[in-house]
Amino acid sequence: MDMDDLYRDIILDHCRNPRNRRNLEGSTEAQVHENPSCGDEIRVSIETGPHERLEKIWIDPRGCAISVASASMMSEFLEGKSFEQAIRAASEFCSYMRGERNESLPAEWGDLASLAGVIRYPLRVKCATLPWHAVEATIRIFFP
Ligand code: ZN
Repeated sequence: MDMDDLYRDIILDHCRNPRNRRNLEGSTEAQVHENPSCGDEIRVSIETGPHERLEKIWIDPRGCAISVASASMMSEFLEGKSFEQAIRAASEFCSYMRGERNESLPAEWGDLASLAGVIRYPLRVKCATLPWHAVEATIRIFFP
């Protein structure tokens, strides 16, 4: 099994069983973000804890495998992080996806490292970054 197969399996697993998924349709708490070039749509809602921390990130992603998997991995990765750490992670992740770093996502990104190959497909970059823009916008409501 080579790395590409391993990565594909991780992506498919998140896509088939998105973590922290909840129906957020019609929820006034949720932010809706869309990627018209692919038809992806995501709703994100956060639960905040003391000290400007993310207790929980709820996602309701509809779209392609990359956007759903990215949302699922993001919801796990950001849990427990401070608003500031989460916003920094969102900006770093997006710069990796846009190929602005001369390296792949390091191992500490966990399952998200499996999205490194998206860099080679410019049309899919917006799919991978959509959930991150949505979570950042949601955090900014509490942490302008
Ligand atoms: Zn997409």
